[in-house]
Formats: sequence, C-alpha cells, structure tokens
Amino acid sequence: MYEPKTEAVRRRRTFAIISHPDAGKTTLTENLLLMGGAIRMAGQVKAKGERRRTQSDWMKIEQERGISVSSAVMTFEFEDTICNLLDTPGHEDFSEDTYRTLTAADSAIMVIDAAKGIEAQTLKLFEVCRLRDVPIITFINKVDREGQSPFELMDEIAERLALDTVPMMWPAGMGGLFKGLIDLRQNTFLPHTKGEEGTGEAVDFSSDAMAEYIPEKELETLREEAELAQVASPDFDLDLYRAGAMTPVFFGSALRKVGVRQLLRGVTSLAPSPRPQKTTVRTVEPDEAKVSGFVFKVQANMDANHRDRIAFMRLCSGRFKRGMKLKISSSGKVISVHNPILFFAQDRELVEEAWPGDIIGIPNHGTIRVGDTLTEGEDLVFTGIPNFAPEILQRVRLDDPMKMKHLRRALESLAEEGVTQVFKPKIGANWVIGVVGQLQLEVLRERIDAEYGIKVGLEPAPFETARWVSADDPLELKRFVDANQGNIAEDRDAAPVFMAKSAWEVGYITDKWPNISFSATRERQ
Ligand code: GDP
Repeated sequence: MYEPKTEAVRRRRTFAIISHPDAGKTTLTENLLLMGGAIRMAGQVKAKGERRRTQSDWMKIEQERGISVSSAVMTFEFEDTICNLLDTPGHEDFSEDTYRTLTAADSAIMVIDAAKGIEAQTLKLFEVCRLRDVPIITFINKVDREGQSPFELMDEIAERLALDTVPMMWPAGMGGLFKGLIDLRQNTFLPHTKGEEGTGEAVDFSSDAMAEYIPEKELETLREEAELAQVASPDFDLDLYRAGAMTPVFFGSALRKVGVRQLLRGVTSLAPSPRPQKTTVRTVEPDEAKVSGFVFKVQANMDANHRDRIAFMRLCSGRFKRGMKLKISSSGKVISVHNPILFFAQDRELVEEAWPGDIIGIPNHGTIRVGDTLTEGEDLVFTGIPNFAPEILQRVRLDDPMKMKHLRRALESLAEEGVTQVFKPKIGANWVIGVVGQLQLEVLRERIDAEYGIKVGLEPAPFETARWVSADDPLELKRFVDANQGNIAEDRDAAPVFMAKSAWEVGYITDKWPNISFSATRERQ
C-alpha cells in the first residue's frame, strides 16, 4: 500500500460524493463543511484588495447564472486533515463532467437513502469509480426516517455492487424509534440528543449504563443485532477497501447531523491520501520534488467582459508556489501562474502554495484545456481523462451568416470547457456538435446567445453517434477516410471521427474494416 513520505501530502484527502438526486448530497456537503473550519493558515493564503473585488464580481455572476463555480471543489480542515471535497454535478445529463471530476478524486463517499437503497444514478457513478478502483465509503442516510432494515441495505449493496460490506456504525432503531448510533469497532453507543451535533458522550455499549438510554428488552435485541451485523460481515481490511473491493458502511442522518462526524473521521482515518498517478511515460508519485498536475474542468466566461476562464488543476506532485512557470502539454506553452485560487465553502482566495491532492484554479484566456497536463518541463501526460462518444449529434444553423467566425470561436471555447464537443465534417460547411445528454444542448444554445450574442438554431444531423478512428498503419487510415468521406469529421484536435447513422452502422463498419480501431472514448494526448 502506498504511503507518501511528505507530511503535507499525508495530511490531505481529496474525495467526491456520489449519489442519486435527493439522497442528501447537498445536506451532507453543508454539514461536512460545518464540521471543518475554513483554512486560514498564516502565510498560505493572501488576498489583496484589488483581487478581492474581482473575486466578488465573479461571485455575483455565479449567482445571477445560478451556478456556483466555487462548488467545483471545497477545501476545509478537519482534525488536522486537509480535505478537498470535489463536487460532482448531480444531473444525469452532465455525466461527462461528472466522470472527469471523478478522475481528480482519490476516493468517494457513496450516499444512499435508507428508504430507497441503491438507485439508478448511484449505480452509474459507482461503475465509473469501479473502472478506476476508487475506494468507496458508504453513508446510509436518513436513519431518522422509516427505511429498509440495515441488514437488507447491507445485502443490497453487497449484491448489486459486488462489494464486500463492513458496517462501522449501526443504527439503534430507525425513524421515530431512532435512539442513537452504535460504533461497532469501539463498542460504544452515541445517544441521539437532538443537540448541536445530534450525539452526546459515547457510552460503553456493554455497560449497565445503557439502561438509561434503551429499555432492557429492546437493548437485548439490539445487542444481538449488533453482534449479528459483525458476524455476518467480513473483517475490515484496509487494503481491500483501498483497492475498491470492500466498503466500510456508516449510518446517519445528514439533516440531523447524526453520524456525520464519524463519517468524516472514517474518511480521514481510512481513505487514501493522494495516490501515484499514471502518465503516458511513467507513474508520478506525490513525493516527487517537481510540480505536476492535470486539468479536469474548465469554467469559461465567468465574467462576460473579460472572457476569462478558470482551469481547475489537480496537483499530483511537488510543492506548488505562486508565480511558478508551468508547461502546458497540449501546446508546449509555458505560463506563469500568478493568480492561483483556492476554493472554500463561501470564498476563494489567492493561494501562495499548494500540495498534491489540492485543486487550484488557474485564471487564463483559453490557453489551458480540459485534459491538459502541466509540469515544470517534463514531457508527460496524465492518462484517464476521457472524452465520451456523443449520443446526440446536431447541426448548428446560423441565422446571420456574417457571424461565422464568431460562432466558430464560441463553439470552440464551449468545447474547451467540455460543455459540448464540436466536429467539422469533411463535406459541408455546418459544424456538428455532439453531446451526451439533451440538457447540454439547451445550455449550449443559451450560452451562445447570452455570452456571444449569436442566435443559432439546432437541427438534427443525419448522424446519431460517433467513434474516434485510428489505425496502426497510416495508409489504412487514409484509405478508410477516403472511402467514407461523407461520414468523416475532425474533432477540435483534428483527430478523425466516424459519424454513424445508427449503432447498427457502427457495428457494420467495424466488421468491414478490421484494421481500423473504433473508440467510444478518446483520451487527450
Ligand atoms: P441531493 O439532491 O442529494 O443533494 O439531496 P438534498 O441534500 O438536497 O436532500 C434532498 C431532500 O432530503 C431534502 O429535502 C433534505 O432536507 C432531505 N434530507 C437530507 N438528508 C436527510 C436526512 O438525514 N433525513 C431526512 N429526514 N431528510 C433528509
């Protein structure tokens, strides 16, 4: 098991919360932030008057647009650990953004509604975590309401996710009968007190003092239940959890602040600190002296007058210092990072230094793109930040043909943000845009109008999906492209894409051209 040597790295946890809408992610996030104090370490964070104004301007625009950029990541401190909580956009249609955000997390908390169990979106997000062996801590929420029995819930997780489940906490009753939580590992009872944090002093669960909280008959049943819960599940194994094969399970209520502190302690004591990351040439370890990181999200046009963008970079190695020069993998350009930003619950501030696991925002004018790697000069690219094959393709129709150049800029910049993908067909003048979900189309049209003043119409393209194509033999690729001109387009990196009328056509063409590889994802190199 990897353990970093650098103290600053060991203290960090970078994690995301995955859940189905309404399971309680927002409520839990708020309460996690409440548990932790915002980080204000002397010397680390500085904000100057001038820049402060810029910051609050951004905040205003965020509010008007109803998006919160600072929520992409929230940094807080809890009992000596620095937590970087990544926000995964909840809406199904933005799953592409969500997938990429998960690439920046070292672990995840899976929130499950005790009444509903595992739901569709939980399952989808879990699959993404599994692809990357992301360790998962489970939080079964809403024990203050009638739910399924804890045993049923444990079984459901184990069966549907093929994961070993190990209860860490156990609810003493649920709904109106909820009396508190049993800490199975400590063998203590945390009575529900309806107080600030919902739990009072821990009581020895085997002691006679328990009589004060739970009537004798009920207590007997509860002790049997707690014993069964432990006997029925395997011993907790940190290695298995870190490999993504076992999940420790916590119970609680985000709304009533029950079990939230215990969950957060679970994260700080069990979840991995920043892990080594794979690149195209070698594995990079957080302890390395040189700084490196990758960009998993770009947010453009936070201020319509300035066309500024924030690139969110996850640091993977080294000690980052403000003013550092970093090289961008896709263009080879070197930039000086003068205004790196750290994000807190309510605020954002200039940051003087940052460590692996931290997410910093780098303001720029379009030089940094999603998937870019930044290093002190070494040529390497972090892998695993994919583009996904679009499931909806549409043609962009321009009402005012004089605005062609503007439109191109707008489409490219929104593609950089990962809002949509753009394709330039080999034949024909109209751009084709690709999205994974319908909602992205509405966002695209609205933003082109609001931010660039261009009215566009979207009409169905004669294609339904697309695959990136490649071949070992460049001549074979050329033959394929020439033979299928009407279906070929280039993505914004000029990589060739085959646009298909149907899934059937994808299958047909794949069989017909065995030496061409067709890929539903593409990693930026
Ligand atoms: P999200 O969609 O996953 O972000 O869920 P929210 O945090 O917005 O919560 C959805 C609804 O569930 C809200 O009405 C919350 O007040 C409620 N809720 C969240 N946590 C709890 C809980 O522990 N107990 C109860 N009874 N309701 C909760």
